[in-house]
Amino acid sequence: MIQLTSADTLTNAINKARTVKPRVHVNRFGSYIVTNKQTGAAYTVTCEKRDGRRFASCTCKAGERGTACYHIAAAVSAHIQLAAERAALNF
Ligand SMILES: [Zn+2]
Repeated sequence: MIQLTSADTLTNAINKARTVKPRVHVNRFGSYIVTNKQTGAAYTVTCEKRDGRRFASCTCKAGERGTACYHIAAAVSAHIQLAAERAALNF
């Protein structure tokens, strides 16, 4: 589980995600399956907000160590987009 404090937290992971271009499947809002299309490896990423702070976790080895992996970067990007769409519809 990592806390997403600033955009910098994910800079390296975002760059890696841009290279790998994983597929992000939405399980439900806040839960995503991120698949590496080359290797077929798939991991579950969870995004949640607690006490106004944002957290993300991933089931891969790096994620379990608390490292911001590219799965988290890819899922967070999808999550932010979904959250914006939900907010836009919630008038
Ligand atoms: Zn991961």
